[in-house]
Amino acid sequence: MVEETFNYVVTPDCDETAAAAWSDIQTCRDVYNHALTQEYRPRPDYDKPSYREMQNKITAWEERWPKWSTAYSKCLQMAVRRLKQSESVLGSLQARGYDVGGLKWKALHEFRSIVYNQSGFDVDHHTDRTAHAVVNFSKIGDFHLTYHRPLPDDGAITLIILKKEKTGDLSVSIVVDYAPEYPENPAVEDIDPEDTVGIDLGITKFIHNSDGLSFDSLDEQRDRDRIDRRHRDLSRKEHGSNNWEKARQLLARAYDRLHNRREDYRQKLAHEYTTRYDAVFLEDPDMKAMKEDGRNSRNIAAMSWRQTIQAFKRHGEKNGCYVIEVPPEGTTKRCSQCGCKTEKPLWVREHSCPSCGFEVDRDHNAALEIKRLGLQQLGIETSAEDVGQGMAESTPAETALPGDTEKTPDDVSPKRVVETKNPCLKEPPKAASRQG
Ligand SMILES: [Zn+2]
Repeated sequence: MVEETFNYVVTPDCDETAAAAWSDIQTCRDVYNHALTQEYRPRPDYDKPSYREMQNKITAWEERWPKWSTAYSKCLQMAVRRLKQSESVLGSLQARGYDVGGLKWKALHEFRSIVYNQSGFDVDHHTDRTAHAVVNFSKIGDFHLTYHRPLPDDGAITLIILKKEKTGDLSVSIVVDYAPEYPENPAVEDIDPEDTVGIDLGITKFIHNSDGLSFDSLDEQRDRDRIDRRHRDLSRKEHGSNNWEKARQLLARAYDRLHNRREDYRQKLAHEYTTRYDAVFLEDPDMKAMKEDGRNSRNIAAMSWRQTIQAFKRHGEKNGCYVIEVPPEGTTKRCSQCGCKTEKPLWVREHSCPSCGFEVDRDHNAALEIKRLGLQQLGIETSAEDVGQGMAESTPAETALPGDTEKTPDDVSPKRVVETKNPCLKEPPKAASRQG
């Protein structure tokens, strides 16, 4: 059984339904804040109330504040559960070395969703309109949606989240448990190391792989300009006015657009890699981030790497491909061919081995080393040839210098990944993009 989330934008059937949704979301917020400030915070760290303990008080709270009972009661439980979930998320971030504060009181626009768990909802896609479905939420009402992505036939809906996006749109996330028909991963002993790949994740180059291909990071300049412009627009409006609200929604749309472009790029790369290879090896991004010297972009890069790896894992499951994380220890220093270690400051872009003479781009060497570690972890015997000894004879992958508009054939632009079905992962089109 797997759990998959299906997202749709929804339209309420009337204004009253929209108002009821927002009002019930705010009730959940009240319950969350109440549980946080009255039950959770006053208790010492070693004696925090359990979810059950707080959940058992909900009935008493509803008696005391009757307006809370206008929301579906299980949703109030989910609001309390959210407190415990946030607590465990913070805990795991802390454990990974991130500097995070405590649980926060939620202001009006910081709490935007209501969760229906197990019951209180109904999804009907047998309406008389094509590609159309209706979701009903108990105590709120009906929402229409474009049924562009059908739910699995034999699936069981376990949870639906109704959310008011910052753009003002309403959306639902439907979580379904089902038994998908995914291909099995190949048996480890049948895997040819040639059908596996090591991937080095970076900041300027999004991906550098052990076959010598690099994928640029998205060009986000236009999105960032748009976001800056809309921030300025918003700051000129009177706070809380209708025009301010409109500007705020436009700003949210600009952020959304950037977010969607990144997500699209990740998904396409993950799909391509996991359909073309039997195993993909990547570095553990949290540990890698710790090793990048304390630059500001560190957390952001780590976040994006983590999301990328999660996308690879999801697609790996669907496509019968192993996706394995290796510890990043020494991957940039160690020679992938002979294991000799050389110190390399970040600005040294070439790997040139004093011991065996292997010369290649620094990130390419790292990707080869990741592949070697990955094969080892998967339990595949390797020889030097399997991790790119052959590469030593061919031209090392060239990377474009900053400001260089000429791309080498080994350098793949995000545009090609996003717009074409085939970004040529395994065989770079030799000189195809170069004119005589
Ligand atoms: Zn060497």
